Amino acid sequence: MKFGTKVIHAGITPDPSTGAIMTPIYQTSTYVQAAPGDHQGYEYGRTQNPTRNALQQNLAALEGARFGVCFASGMAATDTIIRLLEPGDEVIAASDLYGGTYRLFTKGYERYGLKFHFTDMTDPAAAIAPLINANTKLIWIETPSNPMLNIIDIEAVVKIAKANGLKVCVDNTFASPYLQQPMRLGADIVVHSATKYINGHSDVIMGAVLCDDEEIHERLCFYQNAVGAVPGPMDCFLTLRGIKTLHLRIEQHCKNGAAIAHFLRDHAAVDKVHWPGFEDHTNHAIAARQMRHFGGMVSFSLKKDTLADGVRVMSATKLFALAESLGGVESLIGHPATMTHASIPLEERLKTGVVDSLIRLSVGIEDPDDLIADLAQALEH
Ligand code: PLP
Repeated sequence: MKFGTKVIHAGITPDPSTGAIMTPIYQTSTYVQAAPGDHQGYEYGRTQNPTRNALQQNLAALEGARFGVCFASGMAATDTIIRLLEPGDEVIAASDLYGGTYRLFTKGYERYGLKFHFTDMTDPAAAIAPLINANTKLIWIETPSNPMLNIIDIEAVVKIAKANGLKVCVDNTFASPYLQQPMRLGADIVVHSATKYINGHSDVIMGAVLCDDEEIHERLCFYQNAVGAVPGPMDCFLTLRGIKTLHLRIEQHCKNGAAIAHFLRDHAAVDKVHWPGFEDHTNHAIAARQMRHFGGMVSFSLKKDTLADGVRVMSATKLFALAESLGGVESLIGHPATMTHASIPLEERLKTGVVDSLIRLSVGIEDPDDLIADLAQALEH
């Protein structure tokens, strides 16, 4: 099946009890057994749920993976992957990561004896090799990255990992499986904040982990059940519904993103525009190779690079709503320095290019003329 067919059909079968074409919301915490142990494959809602199962299968198909496991948030999904490690293990992670991931790694897990090395992976060979030692187990990347829209060459990272017996996990939230499928490039694990493009309507918090390895899948399912950070059936249903238009939405996000990136680049008040579709973007050629299009995320800094100037522009937009998150049908504007990346120390933040005036746009699927007019008037303020 091609992608546009999979979003609608993969993992979805008419409900066996009624023939309902849409996956029902199995809003139940438990399942009746005919006799102890005599059940229909479902015992308790934390362990299994048919709506969740359909979503897990659908997402696995979209990423070209054998298995999918869903969680109550992207962070719960990330947390579960880190639980697969042992005290003493080391992780090499891209330095330009979602702030919450950085916070979980450093404040959540270093105290349990895990070690995280953060490095700029724009050039993987130079960045990764010097950090590998006998304790290294995992390489963690995000591409395109948040909020600098850096591109990491997934195949190059996988090559280094394979040569050293390491696993690779890719946070594919910014691309979505429509634009990029890291498992097809050799990654072992893909993680999503399905809260974002996958659901796409800013009405659900959801996470997912995809993998091919049976043992990894079993261990993820163990923690899904043992910890219980599971998504509710209603949220699984909404995500399944959002996915049905994933390919159509992303096409429009990408078209609008391109229009806005070009508009900003020509604007007198704008300093730098970060968008992988520009031919002079450091890793444009890699983006063109590993992604279908260049995405709907754009970030830019102002010539007047102060917190106050960034805040002034963000407070003046009318269509772009000032809010955390990304990937919904409506356009959002955010200020990484005080919002998504506030938990990253100033020195680290500046090192990754997150300057004071940096503004991040999640370009929605509205009419691009209206979006451009909104940014134009905000930049005049
Ligand atoms: N990964 C990326 C790239 C994100 O942007 C986010 C949230 O913004 C997360 C993970 C965490 O996902 P969630 O908010 O669903 O827990």
